[in-house]
Parts: sequence; structure tokens; C-alpha cells
Amino acid sequence: MKQDKIFYVKQKHQGVNNFAIEQDSPNGKENGDMVFRHNLRTRSEGFYDVTLKVRESVQESGIKDGICVVFCPHTTAAMTINENADPDVVSDLLFALNKTFPKMPEFRHAEGNTTAHLKASCIGSSVMVVVENGNLVLGTWQGIYFCEFDGPRNRSFIVKVLPG
Ligand code: ZN
Repeated sequence: MKQDKIFYVKQKHQGVNNFAIEQDSPNGKENGDMVFRHNLRTRSEGFYDVTLKVRESVQESGIKDGICVVFCPHTTAAMTINENADPDVVSDLLFALNKTFPKMPEFRHAEGNTTAHLKASCIGSSVMVVVENGNLVLGTWQGIYFCEFDGPRNRSFIVKVLPG
């Protein structure tokens, strides 16, 4: 990864939104005009607010009206939309997910991270947001989160903007 592309998103909450993010090309585009890949290094399990990066990709696509898909290409991480005003909300989400999916001796997966796979499937691999006037149509309290269930790891997420 190119060190000079990294910037740090302001930490909002200890252990939740503290991460480094980078783009793998100067403008973040790949495979044509409307696909953007963003790389991030997660430091621990947690919810990482990537709304700003998604918003930037939408603006850079030049598409004014359409659909934005944000996809997580990992089996132990996920994407979700939830409250970004009170950081305790995503802390509580993580706490409850850990209570819901405890480690069990019956798990067979040799890597030992079955709980991370469970949480990833439960939350889902992508979110979709309407684009209007070049902006994401999100609710006042909504943010887009990359959900790390198995960090620290080098991760990425993909933003695809479709006109329509
Ligand atoms: Zn695994």
C-alpha cells in the first residue's frame, strides 16, 4: 500500500472509529468511471464510519441521480447504515452482536473465527443508497459503516454509482 495516500479519519470514539483509510489510485477510480475502491486498515473489531469516502466517490462520479452501492468484499466484515450522532449506538451494536454470537466449542471452522463469519452474514455485505442532486440521500442521523469483526486487518470496500 502506498503510504503517501493514507490519511486518518478523526477519531470519534475510542476503539470504534479510529482507523486509517487510503485510496489505491490518486482519484480512487478503477475499471472505468464509476467504480471506486477504498482501502482501510482496521485496528480492532468495530464500526468504522466511511460515509465521507462514499460521498466523495459519488461526487467524483459526476452522477447526479441514481443509486450508490457500497460493497464489502470480505467474509468477516460487513457494511451497514446506522446512527452516526451518538457513537454509543455502534458500540452497543457490537456488544449485542458479541452476546448474540458467542464462541462455541462445537464450531468446526479451523481458522477459529466463526463468530466473525456469523456476524458478517447477519449484517450483510452491501448497502444501497439513493443519489439525488449528486448527494447521498441519508437520514439526518444515518452514517455508512464498515463493520470489522476480525481485525486488525487490511480491508477494502467498493463504491459503485449507477445513473438512473
Ligand atoms: Zn474464517
